[in-house]
Amino acid sequence: MEGFEVLVVGAGFAGSEVAYRLARSGRRVLLLTQSLDSLFLPVTPVTDPPAEGTLFAEVYEEGLPPFLLHARAKWRLEAERPRLHLLQATATALWVEDGRVVGVRTWEGPSYRAPRVVLAVGTFLGARLSVGQIEEPAGRLGEAAYDDLFEDLKQRGFAFVPAEQRAAPYKGAPGYRVRFYRFADGEWDPESFRLFRLEGLYAVGACTLGGRSYREESLAGARLGELLLGELEHPSGEGA
Ligand SMILES: Cc1cc2nc3c(=O)[nH]c(=O)nc-3n(C[C@H](O)[C@H](O)[C@H](O)COP(=O)(O)OP(=O)(O)OC[C@H]3O[C@@H](n4cnc5c(N)ncnc54)[C@H](O)[C@@H]3O)c2cc1C
Repeated sequence: MEGFEVLVVGAGFAGSEVAYRLARSGRRVLLLTQSLDSLFLPVTPVTDPPAEGTLFAEVYEEGLPPFLLHARAKWRLEAERPRLHLLQATATALWVEDGRVVGVRTWEGPSYRAPRVVLAVGTFLGARLSVGQIEEPAGRLGEAAYDDLFEDLKQRGFAFVPAEQRAAPYKGAPGYRVRFYRFADGEWDPESFRLFRLEGLYAVGACTLGGRSYREESLAGARLGELLLGELEHPSGEGA
């Protein structure tokens, strides 16, 4: 199989939608995420029903426990093989050549290449999770956040602003708070999802807006998927 056309980092609500939309339309996409067992996994019960036409809508049923929602989304994404390749890995840095992003480096060793890279890393940039007096580097309960990618982005000049999310205690899990960073408003374009500093780079989901809702992030991911489809079909004039 030829190389990937799009590389998506982070298989949360936003990133999964981007990859799904592209693969369903025959595009080759790598969906790289640090834990396949928490792909498309809500951290709290879903209260806001999904928007029509999304992967979220396909797997949603009222009252479904979070883990079953995750499992159903994973089955759908896996069914898009070989166009969609799901890979467990942690992105640590952008791979940049001549001012253009061409892929990512990973904590595990290999680097992965694609002409378009989407950052959908949610609440994991510079994340610190607190449960009572305990604080640890994590983007949500049970999932560590590594600072490498955040440090790499800062070194490349990207500006960030602090954000925060809280989860109430739920079925034996403690309540907790996550403080993290999202891209500052001047860094990205809400219409095209492009990050201005580097060609070929996009961002979507909580790492841009701070985590509005599962519904909103999934819708944003689907929108970016649609935009990328258009760009891939008509590549002239956008520097690909
Ligand atoms: C504590 C808390 C409570 C929340 N409560 C609600 C709520 O009640 N209702 C609601 O609608 N929304 C809630 N949210 C917001 C929720 O985070 C968003 O709505 C939604 O999950 C964001 O989707 P996302 O795809 O942007 O990010 P996420 O769902 O966070 O997904 C990001 C993915 O990227 C992966 N990732 C991160 N860094 C890397 C890396 N370097 N390499 C590879 N993979 C990486 C992570 O593993 C994760 O799977 C809450 C968030 C938090 C943190």
